[in-house]
Amino acid sequence: MEKKVYELKVDPELRDLIPPLSEEEHRMLEDSILRDGCDTPLTVWDGTIVDGHNRYDICVRHNIPFAYEERHFEDRDAAVFWMLEHQLARRNLNSYQRSLLALRFEPMLKKVAKDKQGKRNDLDTNFRTNLSGSSTSYSAEKMAELAGVSPTTIKKVKRLEKEADEETKKQLRKGDTSIHKAYTEIMNKEHEGETRVCERCQQEKPFSDFRLPSNRKEVRPICKECEAKAKQAAKEAEIAASLPVPPEISGIGIKDGQTAHISLGLPDDPAMFEQMIALLQHAQDAYIASFKSTIAQYRPSMISEDHTNMIVEMIDNIANDTEEILNTHLKEVAE
Ligand SMILES: [Zn+2]
Repeated sequence: MEKKVYELKVDPELRDLIPPLSEEEHRMLEDSILRDGCDTPLTVWDGTIVDGHNRYDICVRHNIPFAYEERHFEDRDAAVFWMLEHQLARRNLNSYQRSLLALRFEPMLKKVAKDKQGKRNDLDTNFRTNLSGSSTSYSAEKMAELAGVSPTTIKKVKRLEKEADEETKKQLRKGDTSIHKAYTEIMNKEHEGETRVCERCQQEKPFSDFRLPSNRKEVRPICKECEAKAKQAAKEAEIAASLPVPPEISGIGIKDGQTAHISLGLPDDPAMFEQMIALLQHAQDAYIASFKSTIAQYRPSMISEDHTNMIVEMIDNIANDTEEILNTHLKEVAE
């Protein structure tokens, strides 16, 4: 196509679909066009620009010739889809900007989802629609797919657009803060003054003392402090498990990684009681050590009041069971 300064139609609604170039990006584009001319043809649908609004603007202003290519679309929605997809593929945007761009598909995606029982059209084929679930979850998934982020990120960005202040939005665009961080701040603000009881330490703490999982709506049931403690305990258990097994001690041996009692046959002598108590002490130490390393495996997601009660019941039973062993023995020797 011959390069000329063509007169093309600008549809403001289509133009404003695309986030504007940053000052620097715009300056770089202008410099390059002034230096080398306009190499990339614009894309036009029925006389209206669908790609190259910035190039058109610069070329017309400086009277620089350009080429354009015609593209056919079934309807306006199809043209809009193409424009957004094209921008996402080409522009160097961060996940916040990509999510914002993808969110502009939402009304159209919802419409596509609603029409899903109807005829297949170009959009259906373009997006390989294999529809299931609600139109809301469908559009969130599709937007996530287009932006290359998770559906949760799309939902967070949608909320940030509604509720975050301009300064935060600016930081998000520049990549100076993360989506998760900005979202957490909004959630903390919304729940300011609220408290909840930690399932682990049972203490009432402010909302902001609980971590917001990135993939769940609900905050975690245990506080940040308890989470850190559980993590530390798990680390210690790992270290303990990696240590060499303790050397054999009199009366207690290690067999297949388990402690085993060794029958010593102590002589029936009052002075031997001290030996017997030492044996009991070994048994107790071994039990405590094994209890400690096992309890360290009681991880945050397993922890609940019911589970803790089960453990407490087991501890209570130990005292009863051992006492019963003692009483049975006393009865046996008395006979
Ligand atoms: Zn706690």
